[in-house]
Amino acid sequence: MGKPTGFLEFNRELPTDRQPAERVHDWSEFHQPMSEEHLKRQGARCMDCGTPFCHTGLLMAGMASGCPINNLIPEWNDLVYRGLWREALQRLLRTNNFPEFTGRVCPAPCEGACVLGIIQPPVTIKNIEYAIIEKGFAEDWVQPEPPAMRTGKRVAVVGSGPSGLACAAQLNRAGHCVSVFERDDRVGGLLMYGIPNMKLDKAIVQRRVDLMAKEGIEFVLNTEVGRDFPADKLRADFDAVVLCGGATKPRDLPIEGRQLQGIHFAMDFLRANTRSLLCGGPRDDFISAAGKDVVVIGGGDTGTDCVGTAMRHGCRNLVQLEILPQPPLERLPDNPWPQWPKIYRLDYGQEEAAAAYGADPRTYCITSKRFIGDDSGRLSGLHTVRIEWHKEANGRFVIKELPGTEKVIPANLVLLAMGFLGPEDRLLGQLGVMRDERSNARATYGKFTTNAPGVFAAGDMRRGQSLVVWAINEGRAAARECDLYLMGSTRLP
Ligand SMILES: Cc1cc2nc3c(=O)[nH]c(=O)nc-3n(C[C@H](O)[C@H](O)[C@H](O)COP(=O)(O)OP(=O)(O)OC[C@H]3O[C@@H](n4cnc5c(N)ncnc54)[C@H](O)[C@@H]3O)c2cc1C
Ligand code: SF4
Repeated sequence: MGKPTGFLEFNRELPTDRQPAERVHDWSEFHQPMSEEHLKRQGARCMDCGTPFCHTGLLMAGMASGCPINNLIPEWNDLVYRGLWREALQRLLRTNNFPEFTGRVCPAPCEGACVLGIIQPPVTIKNIEYAIIEKGFAEDWVQPEPPAMRTGKRVAVVGSGPSGLACAAQLNRAGHCVSVFERDDRVGGLLMYGIPNMKLDKAIVQRRVDLMAKEGIEFVLNTEVGRDFPADKLRADFDAVVLCGGATKPRDLPIEGRQLQGIHFAMDFLRANTRSLLCGGPRDDFISAAGKDVVVIGGGDTGTDCVGTAMRHGCRNLVQLEILPQPPLERLPDNPWPQWPKIYRLDYGQEEAAAAYGADPRTYCITSKRFIGDDSGRLSGLHTVRIEWHKEANGRFVIKELPGTEKVIPANLVLLAMGFLGPEDRLLGQLGVMRDERSNARATYGKFTTNAPGVFAAGDMRRGQSLVVWAINEGRAAARECDLYLMGSTRLP
């Protein structure tokens, strides 16, 4: 701890994001870097706690409290304060293969658990992480590190999202020959085709993929295992298989009028948008929000990304509907530190909509009754009703519609962002992998083995739709178990 009084002397400061009115006209990242002088002061706020809750990664009340990959946060906060950036980078890379992703998109459960957060705003951990890795790239300290020797074992990783990439990086480090199969035309999973450019520039994803290729990892694109590449052949050609195929089945809204033109799953909208941007112009599957009245159904991360994307298309108006109540402005007594704070946040998309239309676009405690269309089968509106939540005697929450609150919202484009129902069937079915009660691949956390010998599962495919940081956690840990299975012992962390 370089400066014992840092937290008393310096306030929490973050760099100012680009102004919403300006950034909605382009697809560049909205976060801006901070000067090293400022970052040192922010690092000095860290108290180097005896029990650094920031790095625990415990599950509390169903949410992560502290960093799920146990980043050595107090150590690199101190190193940044002392200007020892290269050493800070070394500490950061010990636990996190991809700080350039988490430094941009992680909701930062570390900050929610920071001890300083009890009495003051927490340390700006995520921004310091981002600064360390970007300095590492700028200084050319991040170089390919191929393994010194090869074991002769071959491992197939199916899926190239953050769990598949983390798993591949670790297995390659252990000396195995790793092939990553990806059905899409680019590597990255939801890092590439889910999270939009303004939050995570696709050049940043490609920069890491290029490094991994130089380290000897093979990427097999446009190849869906189970369709283009038989599952039997995978088992025969490789000594072990790690399934990292994500939880990509979207939740539908099967109400009257669902067949009308203009209703799309969020991921179809987001994926086609990024693909068109990367290809230099609209592709056949591009869905435009330009000049339209847009309704986004679902108030989570995916919904926010739909809002930000529709704003950049130049939509006419935008409304976002959330069935749950608006979270409180501050922690409630039943959500104490160090639990993840379940509080109201104005995310980047809502901030942009608020700047354009005067208010947060979200309406809470509202549900959709039916879609309304015109004579040509095109969507023209959405019939909604306000609701209240009630707790029943058995503890279950039920909704009650409020009479007289029915309303028709004009809509030419509805984006369904109501979450995901688990992994797709084909791959797991062909490999004979059993499912758990939530339809995810059945594999115990910590072991990651499925019922099929030599087949492991990790990331969203095993735990359900989650976070990039959990995908990295599972990819790394599954790699360790896979290495143990192949070699009888392992030195992977
Ligand atoms: C729109 C959106 C925004 C999000 N924003 C954030 C955020 O800001 N921060 C955050 O922490 N988390 C966010 N998440 C969640 C996060 O992206 C996921 O939890 C994470 O990407 C899961 O990683 P994964 O590797 O398990 O799966 P994925 O990233 O889903 O990758 C799975 C990959 O497997 C491939 N695949 C599937 N089946 C096969 C097959 N049979 N053969 C070959 N390839 C196959 C898929 O094409 C895909 O590329 C977001 C999710 C969405 C949908
Ligand atoms: S909990 Fe906060 S103050 Fe304590 S070591 Fe972690 S970052 Fe520093």
